[in-house]
Amino acid sequence: MYTLPALEYDYDALGRYISKDIMQLHHDKHHQTYVDKLNAALEAVPEWQGQPIESLLQDLSAVPESVRTAVRNHGGGHYNHTLFWQWLSPTGGGQPTGPLAEALEGKFGSYQAFVDEFTTKSLAVFGSGWAWLQPDLEIITTANQDTPLSQGLDAPLLGLDVWEHAYYLDYKNKRDDYVKAWWNVVNWDYVAERFKK
Ligand code: MN
Repeated sequence: MYTLPALEYDYDALGRYISKDIMQLHHDKHHQTYVDKLNAALEAVPEWQGQPIESLLQDLSAVPESVRTAVRNHGGGHYNHTLFWQWLSPTGGGQPTGPLAEALEGKFGSYQAFVDEFTTKSLAVFGSGWAWLQPDLEIITTANQDTPLSQGLDAPLLGLDVWEHAYYLDYKNKRDDYVKAWWNVVNWDYVAERFKK
């Protein structure tokens, strides 16, 4: 059985940028529902239970067709959100340092140019989806709960949830205000740690 990971900070810790109400709803209801529906789907195929979620998402075509969509959507939702909470921190924001900062500057010309491109792509996601920074420093987007893993790509360094459920309570339809606020809580230490690997 998959389980909902606890947040490593309080629900109200990001309050200036992402409210307690959003964090509670997003973590306790949305993420919990992905976990519950993933577990429920896998009851029909017990031989597929108990594996790391990454293994299933990396080769969706191997997953039985009867549960493939559920694994893609709810397994993807579980994987994406498990990372997303770790990409947020009450002491986040600012700019990355060290090798990650150098790599971003090398690729984009400046940290601000990276932020601008990531922001533009996040805002261009039509409907629900995610924006990702990949280990090769490409910025990509996926629809719904699709993960880079299922596209044959490596695990992302950083990801941003641009589903309305991630911001509507605070920002209504203004995704641009949400993305602007989100940069203030990005956990660069965690991104740098993933980059090092
Ligand atoms: Mn979400």
